[in-house]
Amino acid sequence: MATVTLVGSFNVDHVWRCEQLPAAGATIAGRYDTGPGGKGFNQAVAAARAGAQVRFLCALGDDAGGALARGLAQAEGIDLRVQLGDEPTGTAGIYVDAMGRNSIVIGAGANGLLASEFIAVQGEAVQTAKVLLVQLESPAETVLASLKLARENGVLTVLNPAPANAHTYAELLDQADLLTPNETEFSALLARHVGERVEPDDVAALDGQRLHALCREVHPKGTVVITLGATGVFVSHADDQHRGDGKAFYRHPAESVTAVDTTGAGDAFNGALVASLAHAPQAAFAEHVRYANRYAALSTERAGAALAMPSQADVLARFG
Ligand code: ADP
Repeated sequence: MATVTLVGSFNVDHVWRCEQLPAAGATIAGRYDTGPGGKGFNQAVAAARAGAQVRFLCALGDDAGGALARGLAQAEGIDLRVQLGDEPTGTAGIYVDAMGRNSIVIGAGANGLLASEFIAVQGEAVQTAKVLLVQLESPAETVLASLKLARENGVLTVLNPAPANAHTYAELLDQADLLTPNETEFSALLARHVGERVEPDDVAALDGQRLHALCREVHPKGTVVITLGATGVFVSHADDQHRGDGKAFYRHPAESVTAVDTTGAGDAFNGALVASLAHAPQAAFAEHVRYANRYAALSTERAGAALAMPSQADVLARFG
């Protein structure tokens, strides 16, 4: 199995489902649930279940949340490399209303301490991977150090620029071979790096040529994969690098599924994409997109994030 290395966050999610989101000063009733989360961990589980050998570099507290992460990683066969912090394990407080809208508060905790020195100490885990996947729930300098180390060693680098409006410095983008924003994140990248205002809801409807031109402005030297929810995916390659696709840009429609919970669909997509890239680096890029699109679609048929990720066998059984 080919190796994928992720550097990122682990959170304990605390979820309250309520009729309406609580207003300032209000006390309301809700149904409580808790479980693992964090973009880094969700994507690590997706990559592992999608068929990759996964290493996950993260920071945890010396507490119950940290123990939860270790136990789950072991169960998933993920090679966990932990920087033990003086802060508690990261947490997320999530309120979800009857319409499925949410309000989220993140307590970064140990995630905020994940240090570039730790990445240097664990350098071999990055240098010997086929693909590196990072997000923006870790300090910018740590994300940058990880990308640089991978690049210097010929490892394919994937930056999922999430959450939107985190530290998306041009320097980070420069180090990414692939950029995988959703519509909201792409809209934020456009506003910040191109000075162009396109509302997230309007991204999918843009003319292909125009969307490709905007992708080229955001990330001139690399591939951009915009995930468009139930609309599917848009792919835009750099002029000199079509990654075996034979064309500069295209749309890939979403699979038809009965979505019950799209939380973590983007994480599912990213995990499956890197697993596929690591497994068959010579395959045309569209093949990887097709697999990730199928994998992510299946993930929406089950409630939850990390623990609802499908297996490689699930994808084969459903789509052949
Ligand atoms: P995020 O979770 O970051 O908002 P998206 O909503 O764009 O990400 O979803 C990521 C991917 O998951 C999509 O590009 C698509 O492949 C798949 N997906 C999401 N929602 C659906 C859906 N309703 N039906 C089929 N596939 C979906």
